[in-house]
Amino acid sequence: MPVGEIIAIGTELLLGEIQDTNTAYIARKFRDAGIDLYRTMIVGDNTERIAQAIREAVDRSDIVITTGGLGPTVDDPTRLAVATAFGTDLEFRPELWEQIQDRFSRFHRHATENNRRQAYIPCGAISIENQVGTAPAFFFERNSKIVISLPGVPREMEHLIQHKVLPLLDERFKLKGIIKAHVIHTAGVGESQVDEWIGELETNANPTVGLLCHPGQIDIRVTAKAGSESEADAMIQEMVAQVQQLVGVAIFGSNQDTLEQVVLTRLGLHNWQLSLVECGFGGAIAERLAKAGFSPGQSQILPELCQPSDLQQMTQSYHAQQATEVTLGAGFYPGPVQQDLYLYLITPNSTLEVNRSYGGPPALGSAWAVQTALDFIRRNIP
Ligand code: ATP
Repeated sequence: MPVGEIIAIGTELLLGEIQDTNTAYIARKFRDAGIDLYRTMIVGDNTERIAQAIREAVDRSDIVITTGGLGPTVDDPTRLAVATAFGTDLEFRPELWEQIQDRFSRFHRHATENNRRQAYIPCGAISIENQVGTAPAFFFERNSKIVISLPGVPREMEHLIQHKVLPLLDERFKLKGIIKAHVIHTAGVGESQVDEWIGELETNANPTVGLLCHPGQIDIRVTAKAGSESEADAMIQEMVAQVQQLVGVAIFGSNQDTLEQVVLTRLGLHNWQLSLVECGFGGAIAERLAKAGFSPGQSQILPELCQPSDLQQMTQSYHAQQATEVTLGAGFYPGPVQQDLYLYLITPNSTLEVNRSYGGPPALGSAWAVQTALDFIRRNIP
């Protein structure tokens, strides 16, 4: 599997004035094409630094893509930087100058002397016609390594990646590999706990195993690189089985599964109906469940903060009144440092209560509480 790198060029990227979306786009295309992305870099409009970045990248990797810095102005340094990196000069390509002039005349405009600058590319480079813009792209090959320079404008870059670069790389590297990911969702446990359970798997080289944190939910991402989709699937399956064994009931689903959907599906298996008594959530639990088809008519939203003992009583009377099989009473008590959650659940099998606390960023507290409340239902429905 060839190894690739991406260098996004532009001082405005380095200053945080615009977001580098080009790298994310190319990274996804690399993943789908089975190119192993080793590293990405952002470099300002400085010829020497770009040349240095290219030299380093070419030392490590087979494919280096640069985006940006191909415009007609003096501060568009990519052409010269590629030439410098390979110890060569720029040369004028009449055919490129013709392409640039043609494009301008199609729009009833004249190419300026500045635009002529874009017809210079490194000696030995091969031009790539840019049908959607004026900046010609090019690639330069040496010792089975390839550097491809693309314009920075996302629309132009994407068009060239799709129509020129991927076919070219496919031909050169006979791309047949695939990088496939599978995401396992867990709830009701913290990141450090999951890390402790599966820490050993996180050092695995292929498939890789990594954690992604969301409020009240830790995802475990398993990513396999393989020669074919079926091989990747088999590797993922084996790793997922190991994760399942170590993490157990904290896992509520994978990939597109959502916790609200899992909760309602479990209730549905028993043909049980759910009622909610929410306090301090502003109806957020019912809202989440409604996304998966829950009827908001089965919930009572208490306007003021009520004490856990009152909430318990109200949940019991609402349970009797609604005559549903399952009723959850949930109280959320946000504080400046710690946010507390009280849950009271009545099911046909048992009545349970728990207190949970959250010490993460206060703005994420209510999302954490909703997720934790839903997970409490899930864990107590067989
Ligand atoms: P041209 O000058 O012909 O438009 P160029 O190759 O010189 O093309 P840049 O001048 O570097 O491209 O960038 C043009 C514009 O494209 C930037 O102002 C920015 O809006 C966008 N752009 C450049 N790089 C990126 C990037 N990495 N991610 C997202 N947008 C980008």
